[in-house]
Amino acid sequence: MQKKIKLMWADANSVLWELTTEKEVSHKIPVLSETLKTRIDVWKGQYKKIYKIWLDHDQNGGLFDFKSQLNSDGTISCRDIEKELGDVRCYYWFDIDRSQDDKKEFIWLQCPLCNSQLLKTGLNNINRAICEHCRLVFP
Ligand SMILES: [Zn+2]
Repeated sequence: MQKKIKLMWADANSVLWELTTEKEVSHKIPVLSETLKTRIDVWKGQYKKIYKIWLDHDQNGGLFDFKSQLNSDGTISCRDIEKELGDVRCYYWFDIDRSQDDKKEFIWLQCPLCNSQLLKTGLNNINRAICEHCRLVFP
């Protein structure tokens, strides 16, 4: 079976995680091109900056907008990771703003990009469903 990983920022060293075990996977591996590693690092820094602005000032800066530059850059990197690694599936982790009370219990059923019904993974609550077509993973 193909290994499944995800790109998700979590204020940790890594931004790549095994989908089934939640173990960190380093993106600083020789197989990936320097260009892609740099792009992932830039995305990581940008995500952290925007996340902090959201925490401190309650302005989401594209964090929860699927079509924002931040999330587009992430999904593009994910696709390139797949291309360069060859034998993995790489999903981009995405969620809504759960700080709002009416959205705390929200469960993703449809893909926000292609509107397809999501596949249940049977994994933990942070990787509850995926869209294979768009390579997205949702809590
Ligand atoms: Zn989709």
